Amino acid sequence: MVDLKGQYKGIKNVVDSSIQDVLNTSTYINGPKVHEFQKNLERYLGVKHVIPCANGTDALQIAMMGLGLKSGDEVITADFTFAATVEVIALLNLTPVLVDVDPDNFNIDIEAVKKAITPKTKAIIPVHLFGQCANMEALMAIAKEHDLYVIEDNAQGIGADYTYSNGEKQKSGTIGHVASTSFFPSKNLGCYGDGGAIFTNDDDLAHILRGIVNHGMYKRYHHDVVGVNSRLDSIQAAVLDAKLPHLDTYNNARRDAARKYNKAFANHDKIETPKTVNGCEGICDSCNCHVFHQYTLKVKDVDRDGLVKHLNDNGIPCGVYYPIPLHKQKAYANSSYEESNFKVTNQLIKEVISLPMHTELDNEQIEYITNKILEFVNG
Ligand SMILES: *Cc1c(COP(=O)(O)O)cnc(C)c1O
Repeated sequence: MVDLKGQYKGIKNVVDSSIQDVLNTSTYINGPKVHEFQKNLERYLGVKHVIPCANGTDALQIAMMGLGLKSGDEVITADFTFAATVEVIALLNLTPVLVDVDPDNFNIDIEAVKKAITPKTKAIIPVHLFGQCANMEALMAIAKEHDLYVIEDNAQGIGADYTYSNGEKQKSGTIGHVASTSFFPSKNLGCYGDGGAIFTNDDDLAHILRGIVNHGMYKRYHHDVVGVNSRLDSIQAAVLDAKLPHLDTYNNARRDAARKYNKAFANHDKIETPKTVNGCEGICDSCNCHVFHQYTLKVKDVDRDGLVKHLNDNGIPCGVYYPIPLHKQKAYANSSYEESNFKVTNQLIKEVISLPMHTELDNEQIEYITNKILEFVNG
C-alpha cells in the first residue's frame, strides 16, 4: 500500500544528516530539532501555533482536554472513520454522537450534524477523510450559531487546501478552533515511528495545550492543570523536518497517481472513482483540494471481497477502509442509534476499496493494478 523504502532512498542524505545532528547534540527530548520543525510547520500551514505531541490519537485527546470539555458533553463525529476519533471522546467520558457521511466524498454529512445537535452538544469533529476537507464553511457556520467548537481531525489531510465558496483557500487544519494530525509512517507526512501535533490560531488555547502535553507544567515541578506526557521526540522531528520541504511534491505525486487511476476507470458503469468536493473535473493541476491519503473506489454490482482476494492473489495490496461502521463496533454500539440514520455508511462498507497509494507509484505498477481490477470487474 505504501513504499517507505523507495521514498527514503530519494531523501536519504537529508534525513540521515538531520538525524545525525540530533545524535551529535544528544538532545533527544524537547531538543532544538523539535522547535525547528514546529516553526517550519507553522510557516508551511500558515497557522499561529503547532504543538508537537506523541501521536495523532493523543493530539485529539489533548485538543479536547484543552477546550475544557466535561463529562456528559456531546461531541458529534462521523460514523465512517478510524476508531481513534471516537475512542478519545469516550476515554474522556464525553458522549460520542455518531452521524452519517456524504456518499460522494465520505465526509461528515452537514444535514446529519444539524439534526444531531442538542443542548448538550459542545463540539463537532470533522475528519478530513482520505485527504480532502469536510465542508468547513458549513461546519463553522453551524458552530457559530450553536456556540460549538470545531476540532479538525487532520490526520489524513495534511497539506490539503480547503476552498471557500468565494474561491479563497486555506490549509486544512487551520480553520477550526483546533486541529490534530498524525505523523504515523504511512500518513502523507510520516516520521519513522510515532508522532503527532495539534494546531491552533488561538494564543490562550495554545498556552493551555503546551502545558497539557507536558504534565500540566509551565514552570518546572509546578503542575497547574491535569496533563499527560505526550512528546514528539527529537529524532522523529529530525525526520519530519527533512521531509516537510518535500510534502507538496509528495502530495502532487499522489494526485498524479490518482489522475492515472481515474483515467483507467473513467466512465465504467461498475466503478465509481473518488469525487472531489470542489467538483473539479478529474483532478486539476492547480487544485490542491485532495491529497489522496487513500485512493478509494466504490464498486457497484461487484463482489468487493472477491476483488480484494483477486488483487491479493496477484500480489497487489489493497485495503477496505473501513469495514465496520463505528456505530456497530462493540465498544461504541448504543441502543439509541437507529440504522435508518446510517444508510450511507452501511452501504459504503460494502462498496469501498482503497488501492495502493504512495509517492513512488510508477506507470507500470498503475497499469498492472488497473488491468487486474478491470479483469475481475469485467469478468
Ligand atoms: C491515523 C489516524 C489517527 C491516529 O493517529 P495515530 O498517530 O496513529 O495515533 C486519528 N484519526 C485518523 C482519521 C487517522 O487516520
